[in-house]
Amino acid sequence: MNTLLVDADDTLWENIVVFNDINRRYVSWLLPDRSVTDLQPELDALQVECIERWGYGRETFEKSLVEGVGRFTGRTATDTDRAFVAELVRPLQWDSLDVLDGVVEVLDALSERARLIMVTKGNLDEQRHKVDRSGLAGFFSAIEILETKSPIEYQRIITDHGLEIATTWMVGNSPRSDIAPALEVGLGAVFIPHAHTWSHEQVTVDPHPRLIELTSFRELTDRF
Ligand SMILES: [Mg+2]
Repeated sequence: MNTLLVDADDTLWENIVVFNDINRRYVSWLLPDRSVTDLQPELDALQVECIERWGYGRETFEKSLVEGVGRFTGRTATDTDRAFVAELVRPLQWDSLDVLDGVVEVLDALSERARLIMVTKGNLDEQRHKVDRSGLAGFFSAIEILETKSPIEYQRIITDHGLEIATTWMVGNSPRSDIAPALEVGLGAVFIPHAHTWSHEQVTVDPHPRLIELTSFRELTDRF
């Protein structure tokens, strides 16, 4: 029986589009003369810096937007700015979550014939909340929430769950987190690009005998 390790954000449900929308509203509020496309590289750099300092999560993202007030305008952030940002990031409480097209049907079919383990990264409490909101937990025999997806973490999952490398595949949208480190430890990888994958998650992945690229989650049932 195959084991599929399945990423969650932007593989099972929409995630980055919510961040993109907040960034767009932030830029039009803070710097109405600049476009989000124009500012995106600087925003990305600031957000990566903040993640390195405070880890993933809504609070970090909120802090980065407050920090951006100073960095992008040269003035000190006021209480009004903080209140505006707090309102902007409200969707990141994930009170609603958009499960991607076909995901429920495909997981339902695959759970009959493969072992499914969700492997997501991010803030532990927030990811747990998203898993609950998604209603998808029942399809998985285990759920792994990681701080980062590294070869060491994939190796630990292989050991902890007694997985056979030859029949285990990592499925996800991020070349940096899902594909490259999984291939590095010998797992197969199924790359399902999302139209809006975050620039920070992009790395070049060379062709590999155990790399499959699909155009949609639905195609998984043709292969597994
Ligand atoms: Mg993802």
